[in-house]
Parts: sequence; structure tokens; C-alpha cells
Amino acid sequence: MDERQRLLELRRLLKRYSYEYYTLDRPTVPDSEYDALFRELQELEEKYPEMDDPDSVTKRVGFEILSEFQKVDHEKPMLSLGDVFSYDELREWSKKITDIYPDVEYCAEYKIDGLAMSLRYENGQFQQAVTRGDGITGEDVTSNVRTIHTIPKTIPYSQRYEIRGEVYMPKASFNRVNRERLNNGEEEFANPRNAAAGSIRQLDSRICATRGLDGFWYHVPDDVNSDTHYGSLMYARRLGFIVNENTKLFHDIEEVINYIEETAKIRNDLPYEIDGMVIKVNSYALQNKLGFTSRIPKWAIAYKFPAEEVKTTVEDIFITVGRTGKCTPNAKLTPVRIAGTTVSFATLHNEDNIKDKDIRIGDQVIVRKAGDIIPEVVRAIKEDRKKDLPRYVFPEYCPVCGGRLYRFEDEAAHYCVNSECKARLVYSIAHFTERNAMNIDGLGEKRVEAFFNAGLLNSFEDIYKLHNRREEILSLEKFGEKSYNNLIEAIEGSKQNSLERLIYGLGIRQVGEKAAKILASYYGNMDRFMEASFESLSEIKDIGPITAEYIRDFFAEENNLEMIRQLKLFGVNMDYIDNSISNDSVFNGKTVVVTGTLENYTRNEISELLENLGAHVASSVSKNTDYVIYGKEAGSKLRKAQELNVTTIDETEFGKLL
Ligand code: NAD
Repeated sequence: MDERQRLLELRRLLKRYSYEYYTLDRPTVPDSEYDALFRELQELEEKYPEMDDPDSVTKRVGFEILSEFQKVDHEKPMLSLGDVFSYDELREWSKKITDIYPDVEYCAEYKIDGLAMSLRYENGQFQQAVTRGDGITGEDVTSNVRTIHTIPKTIPYSQRYEIRGEVYMPKASFNRVNRERLNNGEEEFANPRNAAAGSIRQLDSRICATRGLDGFWYHVPDDVNSDTHYGSLMYARRLGFIVNENTKLFHDIEEVINYIEETAKIRNDLPYEIDGMVIKVNSYALQNKLGFTSRIPKWAIAYKFPAEEVKTTVEDIFITVGRTGKCTPNAKLTPVRIAGTTVSFATLHNEDNIKDKDIRIGDQVIVRKAGDIIPEVVRAIKEDRKKDLPRYVFPEYCPVCGGRLYRFEDEAAHYCVNSECKARLVYSIAHFTERNAMNIDGLGEKRVEAFFNAGLLNSFEDIYKLHNRREEILSLEKFGEKSYNNLIEAIEGSKQNSLERLIYGLGIRQVGEKAAKILASYYGNMDRFMEASFESLSEIKDIGPITAEYIRDFFAEENNLEMIRQLKLFGVNMDYIDNSISNDSVFNGKTVVVTGTLENYTRNEISELLENLGAHVASSVSKNTDYVIYGKEAGSKLRKAQELNVTTIDETEFGKLL
């Protein structure tokens, strides 16, 4: 292909990838592939300057914003960073600076893999949080960012203050969120960055609040409190912002390289993802001399860790069947070390992915850990393929029960629709008993499978008949009297659960813990929930028509109705037990401001408590405020409340009102 044609093709391709990555939060290629194509495009654009296009991804930050959030202009553009992929390139970047300014000092910081965010404060109060967007305009995501507990809602600083940094999803939250999504039959997030971006774009901040996000703060534009970047960060830390503790100063780029080497070794042990090191010129005076391009500052650079990709062989392709009957193809690999762990299996996602990449059993393949967590097969090395290796054909029948597999319209996955399929039954029962569902300790997945194989468990109802099978259970390997008694006790205890646990345990598609809670509190008991019409269900906020349809489908099955009847007969509670103290609280629906130091609560604790009681917790007092709760050393907010005749309550009165 002609190079000019290639240039245009790359522009089109990268534009599509950027749209998928930034706008949809759903990348379809690994970052390493994107970065390689980006470089190729940059080189071609340098070679053919007459083909310049200001709309090229090489000239832009991020991608167009397409969301329902309000758009906000940045006071100063929020730029991207130039990047290097080798130490030599990093040395070259540094040399260009030291040739002119030999005494340069560098600040090296972890490159946090999340999404950039700007926080604005006025009179010491948190006002607004805005995403980077296209660098000029971002989205106002204040209500979502407000749910991040570590972000200070007030700071001891009365001037206007802006600080920028990264909102990220810690690895533990990422694993939990993906587990929940899998349970709910939803698609997993590809990596923590996409998970963080997807969470921040939730229209309902209550959902964002459950995602366990956090933030590191690393840039104060136009700071008047220091002459250096590092000084500004230390000042920000004193104001209450979390500045990453691994932020360090160096005088020599070789020291920076040593630091990168050390970091690469411990990277996998960190509780959050980093994808490199950012190196910044520390002095503001020097930063100003070096300046910016339209896309990046010239005084900073990102060293990106090489993508951890390794070569191995696909020994087999096998299908796993999930609780919903979803069939996922997996590659069994010759074990290899990658990103600190041994990888023996990798997901192949679905049939189309295998076809597109033409992955065959016996192929040499490149495997990488996407976002360093889920291993996936990047591509087959076709050049090394043995002759006559047959193409992989996706099975037509379930590997577990032999039932026919179906692929529904608009779905990439195949499903086993046989509700008696062992895989589906075992996973469904294990889901029913899990901690967040019916919470039957002692009946985890392994044991459910053992009971299933022994003919003791075939359905949810069978759980409540286990007390009649004492001898058979005790004859099972590793099952003593004590375990048996504990198990029966846990089963008995589960009969008293509130309705939402049962609804969640049923495993209706798209009905996760949160939806189950909403449905249980809305309908109050199982009968009303089972009879709810499609219209009634889809009108409920946070449920929507798709989930409503799945619920209707579930109760349209006679088997499921019979199962509920049986559970009722066994004495399983079918009512919602309202444990919250919220509904008749005086704070329900009210706007409340908290000020001063409280004895019994931290600021986060009281805010959470008030929110649970149905209150909206605001940070500043206005005529719309209903209550001001004050503690020791309350100052201007208490005075303002008194001026505006807003009801003020001290901590003792608050306790009484609770
Ligand atoms: P970037 O992620 O390479 O670097 C800039 C960003 O780094 C900043 O905006 C900031 O958010 C972040 N950052 C983290 N820690 C920082 C620190 N300590 N100091 C300063 N900034 C810090 O650039 P980008 O413009 O956000 O994204 C481009 C990258 O995104 C590409 O290199 C590619 O890897 C990826 N991408 C992938 C696809 C895909 O399809 N897979 C598509 C588009 C972009």
C-alpha cells in the first residue's frame, strides 16, 4: 500500500479506536497495539507534512464527549502526555533539556492508570469535578466524584483552588465489581481504567458510590503557593489531598531510570494499576520556558512499561458454562510466566473472537494480561503454524449436558438453554447459597458440586431437605458431625432472610444485589413481586425494560413458580424486612449541612448515616438548607445558618432525633 494511503487508513482506524476507548469506555484492541499504530501514524505525518490534519488523533487530546453530563470548559487545557517506550528515548528527551538547562531537577511519579480529573474549590468548599474530555471541555461529574471518600469536601484554604489528578479503581474493587457483573450476567470491564471511566459516567451516583473508586492528585495549575511542582504537591497534601507517596525528586535521568527499574519489579504488588512513570521538570520557571504543544506539555514525559506479552502454545480450547448458561471458550496454554504470575489459561471471549484472530488448537500465540488482570490471547503467530492445522469449529452442543447451544440475535455468546444442565445447576445453587444471597455457610461451589454428584442436591428446594439426608452427608469424604450441624444451622438461619437475599439468590438475569434490594423494598413480598407486570417493573427507577423482561420471563416458567411454592412450604421468609431507620426519619428528603468537629462521628460517617436516612448532605449553607448539625469549633456556617433562620442541631439533639 502507498504510504499516503496507509497514513489515511491509520487516521481512520485510530479515530475508531479512540471513539471506542474514550467515548464508549470499551476498547477493542490492547493499548500496546494502539500505541504502535499511533507511532506509525506520527512518523508518516512527519514524512508527509502536506497531509497535515488538525483533526488527527496525534493532534488531539482524548475524543469527543458524547454524554448526558453538563459540559464545562477548562480554565487551562487539560493535556495528554508525550510518551516514550525505551530508556534511550527517555535519555534523548532529557538531553534536549539538559543541553540548555544542565541543572534541571526531575519529579518522578507513578503513572496511575485511571482517568484524569479536575477538582475545583471555592471558599474552602468542594464545588465541581470535571473530566478531561477533549482537553478543552470536560463533563461535570461532581455528584459521582463526591462519593469518593478520600476526596476532601472542605479544605483549609479560602482562595479559589484547582487540583488535577487521576481517579482510579483499586485492583480489589476491580475484581469485586467484575465478579458482581459476571454474576449478574453483565459484560466484565476490560481493565481498571475502563472500569473507573465507566463508573464515573454513571448517571446515578449511588451506583458510582458502590464501585470503590479512589484518587491520586498530581498537578496544581498556576499554583501560587510554591515555585516547584513538588512543593505544590506537598502543599496539596497538607490541604488533605492524597498525593502518591512514591513521588520522588532526582537530579539525573539515570537515577530516574533506576527508579523505574525498581518500580517495574514491585508493580504487580501494588494495590492499584500503574502503566508507567511520569517524569516532570520540577521548577515552574523552567516549565514555563519549555512550554506546550497543542496536545502535550514539553516539560513532562511518560515512560510506559512495555506491554507484558509472551509467546506460548494453545494446547486445547474448551468451553465453560456459566450460571446463565453462557458458554465461554478458553484456551488451555502451555504454562508461562507473565506479569509476575504463571498463566495456564486465557479467555477467548466468544466464537467471533476466535474466528477473527483465527486461533487454532496447536497454534503458537501471543498472550497478554489485559490491564494486568485477565489473561487473553492477542493473536496467533500464523507464520509458525504447522501445515494442515484445522480451523477451530465452535461446538454445537453443551460440553456438560450435551444440550444444543444457541446463539441469540445481537449476542456474541452461545448459551446452553437446558435448565437441567449440571453446570448451570451447580453454579445456580452455589449462587443461591453465596454470602450476599441466602448466606448458607458451608455450601460453597465445591461442596454443592459434591452434593450434586452424590444425588443430594438438584435444586434450590433440595437445600431445605438436607436435614433428612444426615447419614448420606456424613458418609461423604471430609464431612464430620460438626460440619453437618453447622450446615443445617446455616440452612435454618437462611429461612429468616429478608426478601432481597432470596430475589438475588434466584439468579434472574440482570438482577444483581442492588436491583434485588430495590425490588424487595418496592413490592414488599414475593407474591406481589411475582405478579408485577412488565409495565410496573419497567417503571421502577434503576430497573428498566430489559431487566423487567428477564423478570417476567423467569416467572413465566411453571418450574420457577413451583420452586417458590416449595420454598414457601419449607418456611423460607418471603417478606421484605426493612432494617433501615430511614423512612420516618426527620431527615428524609431534607438538605443537611454538617459543620465543626463532632465527638461521635467522622465527617464521612455522619454523611453516610444521613444519606442512609434519606438526607441530601450539602457542603454550604443557603436558604434551601433544612438543618445544620454542628459540633465543636463550628464557625461561619453556623453563623450563616443562624442569620438565615435555618434549624441548627447540636450532636446531643442529633442523637435524640435518631
Ligand atoms: P496517557 O494515558 O498516555 O497519558 C496521559 C494521562 O496520564 C494524563 O491525562 C493523566 O490522566 C494520566 N496520568 C496518570 N498519572 C499521572 C501523573 N502522575 N501525572 C500526570 N498525568 C498522569 O494519555 P491519554 O491521552 O490519556 O491516553 C492515550 C493512551 O490511551 C494511549 O497511549 C493508549 O495507550 C490508550 N488508548 C488506547 C486505545 C485502545 O483502543 N486500546 C485507544 C485510545 C487510547
